Amino acid sequence: MKAYKVLGTTDDVTTCELCLKPELKGTVVLMPLDDDGNEGGEACYFGTSCAAKAAGWTVKEVRAGVKRATDEKREAERAEREAAWAAEREFLAAWYEEHYGTRDLHEAAERAGMSTVRLSGEAIHAYRELQRAAEAASVEEPEVMEAPVTQHRETLVRVAGVERVVRTEDGGKIRTTKQLETAHTKAVKAALVEMRRANLDAYKLTLSTLEAAPWSPGRDRDIEATKRIVRRAERGTLTSHGTYDVAAMRKPHPPVRFTETVPEYLVEVEPGHYATDEAAESLALF
Ligand SMILES: [Zn+2]
Repeated sequence: MKAYKVLGTTDDVTTCELCLKPELKGTVVLMPLDDDGNEGGEACYFGTSCAAKAAGWTVKEVRAGVKRATDEKREAERAEREAAWAAEREFLAAWYEEHYGTRDLHEAAERAGMSTVRLSGEAIHAYRELQRAAEAASVEEPEVMEAPVTQHRETLVRVAGVERVVRTEDGGKIRTTKQLETAHTKAVKAALVEMRRANLDAYKLTLSTLEAAPWSPGRDRDIEATKRIVRRAERGTLTSHGTYDVAAMRKPHPPVRFTETVPEYLVEVEPGHYATDEAAESLALF
């Protein structure tokens, strides 16, 4: 019996991959686990009873697993929100301190001779700018400029307004196109990771401030959440959504297989072109 972990449910896939029953309201998303309990391979989509059958669970256990996964996801999102708020609060306090020598908005406004609304507006504006830069760093996909004739690959990588061209050429160990692309992908990833690391300072500042602060409700949780953000930025990965394997879930499903063999039930409508009986018939009408 294969071991699985429940990732959640989805209504994107409505056909059970086990019994192939279609038009279900939704499916349970299961991730196969290897012998060490690590997630491995592609996510499976099963109806509830088939999920139970595949994993050796009762239907009740499947439902409990779904609930747990949903709760975990919600908790992760909540922690992320909390961390975002904590980061913003910290940024604003640091901004007041930098400009007016105090972390307190009211005192800073007094020193600036400005209303608190106007001063906090300016600080928030500065924070949004920083966020936009960080977002650009995590969301922007490399633009690929390829020259097919010479054997090289070039990619323009942009992180928070900083651009860098990554170029990989063949030669040495790189002989085939596939090796060139593998090497280039690796180089682009390395560049992204390195450039994103440059945006880490704001998160690290938040973390050290949180760690230095006296205990308060939610502080430990905020610290953990901020640590995750820092780790992610360090690794150069995109946000993971709780226990969901987003990369696996984004894959098209069910898996499509391409074949050279023409199925017997298709008829040849013109050389090299095949259609079903019905389609062939409707084509003949025109
Ligand atoms: Zn089924």
